[in-house]
Amino acid sequence: MIRVELPVLVFIYLFVFLSAIFSLWIVYEWLRRRRERETLRYRIQCTICASIFEDRSDTLLARCPRCGSLNERFRIGGL
Ligand SMILES: [Zn+2]
Repeated sequence: MIRVELPVLVFIYLFVFLSAIFSLWIVYEWLRRRRERETLRYRIQCTICASIFEDRSDTLLARCPRCGSLNERFRIGGL
């Protein structure tokens, strides 16, 4: 068995533990952002009545369900 001093052992344990938590956190954050972006992708705000609606079709212009005007597709919140 390799002899390691106790402080070094504690340090290695802490390092492994913290890096595991950190990487899990990164993965969860990444998944959350991807999910958020996916829901925002189809969200359109009407330029006439300012209502926000979802349009999952692939047409260039989306029709507002409230006032019936055509809206250009644009991204909300970057990314
Ligand atoms: Zn509208």
